[in-house]
Amino acid sequence: MTVTYEKVVYSFEDLCEDKKLLGNKGANLVTMVKMGLPVPPGFAVSVDAWKEYKRTGQLPEQAIEDALSRLERRMGRKLGDGLAVSVRSSAAVSMPGMMDTVLDVRDNSTMMDSIRKVFDSWETPRAIEYRRLNNISAEMGLASIVQAMVFGNRDELSGTGVLFTRNPSTGERGLFGEWLQGALGEELVSGRRTPQPLDEMKKMLPDAYRQLEEVARTLEQHFKDMQDIEFTVDSGKLYVLQTRNGKRSGQAAVKIAVDMAKEDILSQEDAILRMTPDDLRSIIYPHIHMPERYQPLTRGLNASPGAATGIVVFYPEEAAIRAKKNEDTILVRPETSPDDIQGIAAAKGVLTSRGGLTSHAAIVTRAMGKPSVIGASQLEIDLKKEQFSVNNVVVKKGDIITVDGDTGYVYTGALPLIETEATAEFNTIMSWCDDLRWIGVMGNADTAEAVTQVRRFGGDGIGLCRTERQFNTPEALAAIREFILGETREELDKVLQRLRELQKEDFVAIFKALQGMPAVIRLLDLPLHEFLPRDSKDSRVRERIMRLMEVNPMMGHRGVRLAITNPEIYKMQIDAILEAKREVEANISLMVPQVITLQELLWVRRIAEGSGLKVGMMMETVRACMRAGPLARAADFFSFGTNDLTQAVFSFSREDAEKKFLTTYFDKGILQDNPFQVLDVKGVGRLMETAIHWARQEKPNLVISVCGEHAGDPRSIEVFYRMDIDYVSCSPFRIPVAKLVAAQASIKDKREHKARLKTLTQQEVKC
Ligand code: ADP
Ligand code: MG
Ligand code: MG
Repeated sequence: MTVTYEKVVYSFEDLCEDKKLLGNKGANLVTMVKMGLPVPPGFAVSVDAWKEYKRTGQLPEQAIEDALSRLERRMGRKLGDGLAVSVRSSAAVSMPGMMDTVLDVRDNSTMMDSIRKVFDSWETPRAIEYRRLNNISAEMGLASIVQAMVFGNRDELSGTGVLFTRNPSTGERGLFGEWLQGALGEELVSGRRTPQPLDEMKKMLPDAYRQLEEVARTLEQHFKDMQDIEFTVDSGKLYVLQTRNGKRSGQAAVKIAVDMAKEDILSQEDAILRMTPDDLRSIIYPHIHMPERYQPLTRGLNASPGAATGIVVFYPEEAAIRAKKNEDTILVRPETSPDDIQGIAAAKGVLTSRGGLTSHAAIVTRAMGKPSVIGASQLEIDLKKEQFSVNNVVVKKGDIITVDGDTGYVYTGALPLIETEATAEFNTIMSWCDDLRWIGVMGNADTAEAVTQVRRFGGDGIGLCRTERQFNTPEALAAIREFILGETREELDKVLQRLRELQKEDFVAIFKALQGMPAVIRLLDLPLHEFLPRDSKDSRVRERIMRLMEVNPMMGHRGVRLAITNPEIYKMQIDAILEAKREVEANISLMVPQVITLQELLWVRRIAEGSGLKVGMMMETVRACMRAGPLARAADFFSFGTNDLTQAVFSFSREDAEKKFLTTYFDKGILQDNPFQVLDVKGVGRLMETAIHWARQEKPNLVISVCGEHAGDPRSIEVFYRMDIDYVSCSPFRIPVAKLVAAQASIKDKREHKARLKTLTQQEVKC
């Protein structure tokens, strides 16, 4: 069979920069050639050739021979006779260290074998695992780069280095990297030899260093991002071997995006689009509370920020198994390799005894937003015995330690962790998001402390304040039990008055914490029997327990149904709110749970009559969604309770489904996502859209929001944005991510809109 390989091999001088053909590394090398930067000449055997190779097992040998001859002519030297090449992998998305590299190839047939080797490395288990974790399609494929070798080990004026154009941990400006004199790059990137700071190169090779600074600046300006650069100095002459957008911690991502916007490298909008939910999450990650109080065991490099506490394990498989059992682990290894990725993903933190800030463990944990301490060289790890010793202390598998990725300290035991203080750049990016987002982001908060957290994370208000928890104190619990057991009117009135006073105190505390933020208070939703003990010696109590017991309490006597049978409870709550409001002025609305029909809502409106409070309802029953039109007429606002709504739409009990069968559903591919985490767009989402449509037909300005798990989930927020939801209300820690996604959705929408307009006008011109 003859295959025509017309352009399946591209010389760098062809100036083809298509990542789909040359992969990321290859395309960036060509870009650097185009910019006139010092890159050793070479060519790319393209992704198309890989596809052909995968199909037929054949390489485009003639085209490769031709490209090689061209390279030989250009270098004025023959392969094996003064010319050696490297054969490198180049995937469309950078997959650091995942695929094979063959260095110092000096004859033709080894150079063909090497290309095969590089192509075959696409299918290794570790590459497959990496793609699965990073959602990279196996179809994407890779190119193979053949490039003239330069030698960092030629003489004492030679060496090799890796650098980030800004600090990948903090985002601080200035070159940040490592340097090895008289060595090949592989010795550095593999972590086999311990490198020196880049300053050593500056002292030894000032001219090459200055040139490197210039290269870094040029590349940042071009790619509009922080770069991760591999370079080699061969007898005093600088060569750039690779550049790619550098992986970074969340803190660094935020600082770099903000700085680049301020340096006019990026627009504010692009800076926001650059951020990922994980970047923000890692900033919100826990840190050790008052670390100065504790005596560290040892210290390594602070490679990835945040602190983590967990059980010591030495094998990635064990971390994965324990994670399934919800156990927090710290993975302790001499070093990590790409084969350990799954275990690293499963562990809460990573500790290694070897490697530097650009080692595999450092880069991977930073990208995952996972705390790590790397290169704690005092650690003596015994993998067989599954223990390590340091300073005469032996720590065994199963013991608990804490690693502090902020300082590099390692401690025995579980240290108390707290959340980070937001950096100035974090606040800046949040305020940009506030300016650009079109939907509101509120927080769910049941207590004054939670309200304060919502304020700290910059929520627009409290979208859901549940009142169930207020009955959790022994005093309130005793009172509500008395109410349930009470028989005479006097008994009931007395206990209701006590409850009202208790509730009022809670509301006063919450209103004070609001400091002007609006809040939506949901009236009691709990089934009454949950307030009763499981059993009792008292026969009267036992009789009541029996009477209130329900086979299916989630669908039982709760929410607004309680208000129909016992209106005095909601009356008491509303009175408590009004009394609290007389002490502390606050912007409060009421929300009614579990409504199915207009009559229920009108019933509660009558209880609230004269209060002056707005009355809205939870949209969490299927019937309410189908009756959204009439309900909209009587409601001041709607808030979709997507947890109960999902439960109702699926007929799945959230409490049981995850334990019993949902995992099997995922394993067998019946469901892709957990519908209680990610909104089921096709079912629940469809129902919501229908309800919103009918509601807005009745009342175009009706305020509609979402509270529930989904309100803090990035993918679901994008969907809510498209549904024209006014705001989402999520748990306090998820507010920054929700704000980011809300802003990103607005920016993307605006851009899509502009693009549509553009195609329209272009078409008109054509006509
Ligand atoms: P990876 O995809 O794992 O980053 P590379 O293709 O970058 O692999 O190769 C690994 C290392 O091999 C590089 O960092 C560099 O130090 C060395 N190397 C690759 N090609 C050459 C070359 N032409 N001359 C000198 N060193 C090279
Ligand atoms: Mg490689
Ligand atoms: Mg590389």
